Amino acid sequence: MSKIIASAAIRGAYKIVEQAEEKWKQAMDKWGANEPVGFPNTAYYLPVIYGILGEKVEKVGDMERILKRCRTLLPPPVREEHPLPYLAPALDAGMATFFAEEIIEAIRYLEQPDFYLTGEDITDNNIWLGAADDIILRKRGIEFVDGTAPGFAAVLGAAPTNEIAVKIAQELQQKSIYVFMAAEYNGKRFSEQLVEAGVQIGWPTRLVSFGPDISATVFAAGFAIRAGFTFGGIEAGDYRKHLIYNKDRIFAFAMPLGYVTDEWYANAAGAINFGFPIIADTPIPEVLPTGITTYEHVISNVPHDEIVAKAIETRGLKVAVSEVPIPVAFGPAFEGERVRGEDIYLETGGGRTPMVEWVTSKRMEDVEDGKIDVIGPELTDVEAGSQLPLAIVVEVAGRNMQEDYEPILERQIHHLVNYAQGAMHIGQRDIAWLRVSKQAVEKGFKLSDIGTLLHAKLHQDFGRIFDKLQVKLYTEEDKVKEVVEKAKKVYAIRDARIEGMTDETTDLYYSCTLCQSFAPSHVCVISPERTGLCGSYNWMDCKAAFEINPTGPNQPVDKGETIDAKLGQWKGVNEFVTKASRGKIDHYNFYSIINDPMTTCGCCECIAAVLPLCNGIMSVNREYSGDTPCGMKFTTLAGTIGGGISTPGFVGHGKYNTTQKKFAIGDGGLLRMVWMPKSLKEEIGERLKTRAAEMGVPDLLDKIADETVGTSEEEIMPFLEEKGHPALTMDSLLG
Ligand code: SF4
Ligand code: ZN
Repeated sequence: MSKIIASAAIRGAYKIVEQAEEKWKQAMDKWGANEPVGFPNTAYYLPVIYGILGEKVEKVGDMERILKRCRTLLPPPVREEHPLPYLAPALDAGMATFFAEEIIEAIRYLEQPDFYLTGEDITDNNIWLGAADDIILRKRGIEFVDGTAPGFAAVLGAAPTNEIAVKIAQELQQKSIYVFMAAEYNGKRFSEQLVEAGVQIGWPTRLVSFGPDISATVFAAGFAIRAGFTFGGIEAGDYRKHLIYNKDRIFAFAMPLGYVTDEWYANAAGAINFGFPIIADTPIPEVLPTGITTYEHVISNVPHDEIVAKAIETRGLKVAVSEVPIPVAFGPAFEGERVRGEDIYLETGGGRTPMVEWVTSKRMEDVEDGKIDVIGPELTDVEAGSQLPLAIVVEVAGRNMQEDYEPILERQIHHLVNYAQGAMHIGQRDIAWLRVSKQAVEKGFKLSDIGTLLHAKLHQDFGRIFDKLQVKLYTEEDKVKEVVEKAKKVYAIRDARIEGMTDETTDLYYSCTLCQSFAPSHVCVISPERTGLCGSYNWMDCKAAFEINPTGPNQPVDKGETIDAKLGQWKGVNEFVTKASRGKIDHYNFYSIINDPMTTCGCCECIAAVLPLCNGIMSVNREYSGDTPCGMKFTTLAGTIGGGISTPGFVGHGKYNTTQKKFAIGDGGLLRMVWMPKSLKEEIGERLKTRAAEMGVPDLLDKIADETVGTSEEEIMPFLEEKGHPALTMDSLLG
């Protein structure tokens, strides 16, 4: 801690303790030692004293002991030649400050019973709410525990203008953060500024005007301690646990606005004990080394338009936006809803226009949390029935963010966009597909709302892994194509992360049940050599997802005893699938299309099907809309087998999986592949050549037919014969 801060804090603590002693003597003279004292309607006495020292202050006489403790806590004033370190003595001074302030405030309750209001609301002639009683504590404190309120800001002093005060307060409110206000600067107080500006203050709006003086700051500390008592089950006097609980669970920070007096410094030192950092608007010395607080102790000279963001970042606060502020209804109830035909206002992707969605991490300073940009025409710029290209780029930053988490966040886009009433989303990555209904547009839904809902929900559900998130929505074709190119490179890197891992070398697979809302019996079990059929999740992604959310849709599956090594069937997997499909599916094979294949849901990138005449298989990707040799287009296939069932002869799979070693290996593997759309051949061509060479047929790609050869088994057969396709001479596929 800086010497300047330490010496100021210690000086301030002396002043406050002396003031408390003075008040106490007067109270003793006037009321006597047996006069009851305390804050109204609470079982926690003077809560900071009770929590930290385990002492019950019930009568004026009880205060003497505490004041003596304060004296022993007060270090000698810091002298010029005083050696380092300053931290511990200053922190003790901070604790003494809080004890003394509780005494000052308790005596005020005794002397002026009407000075503070009771209840949650201010009145026309009094705005000071004082200590929260236990009813308020229970009602409001639970919000800190269940995450509805991410934390509180203890605001001291006043902003330079009422406008700035309003702006800061609203910014904190929007983030659901409570604002606890005390102290005065330049004859003004933050709470009075808000009232003057016509802002509603009181507990219901989370703008809590504790009191006019600096000593009212202790009501914030008392609230925090009582949260530890009530919700943390911490005992009186267990100061270590109380302080740790506050550091870890009560995400609070102090925001002194205006000149920082010695008394303010003393309170700041008190706050640091609780792990609450100080974010100031004045150029006080900074205390940057981390340790007691989660991050920096004191950040100073922060401009008013950045102060809230800085405070949130410093405290490592996770902001949950409980309501999704978009003009249409939002929730899982709308997930399965379809948008069809005449109802469509806008359509993007789905093979009609390019569409891509991509989550990427950025540096902290490159992301402005909550910023949503639409680059190109908005919904309001186009007519009903239009089509637009669309790239949804979500940029995240945070101290805990890792590249491994990007695919997990990205996969949420599908579900979250579907949550919006009137929006239908299918697919992922660069094969996404979106429809927005006319009804949604009538209600005011815009493309920017996709950004808004992603920001709100990703913060809520994954706030633990990132701090800031912004969304860019591109609707200009060249821009979208640029993003597609960039994203594709990243997809390739993500896919390749499991290269080299084999199913044999791990006992742990991962489940994915994310798609059960559409396909209730569908369970993907993902092994290193069988990535999810949506192409979004491989084994690594599931592992990371499980780390982030241990109770989420990606659970480790102990594969257990091998039932069939060739087809890829394990006892542990079967047991898991039985349970996860609620008894609908009791077994399946990882490596076969013919024999009880894995279940398929509507998200699959590709669908493979058996072509009996050719003694081979085909695979069709979602982007290809034409006919295929199995007699069905992709959409028909997806509609037929994509409901979460296992359909012998057909299976959904990821593009990348096509070239993984275990692909359909139970049926003979990649060498069975006789037909693929030209675009898919081009897309995965390089990897396919490598894999085919490993299997002894380096020119397999040239032997695989596509739509330019034909779209029926009869049409492609001569081609296969002419090329000498290996499938023709393999064992009979149907056995
Ligand atoms: Fe998960 Fe499978 Fe759905 Fe992909 S297709 S999100 S892996 S359940
Ligand atoms: Zn799915």
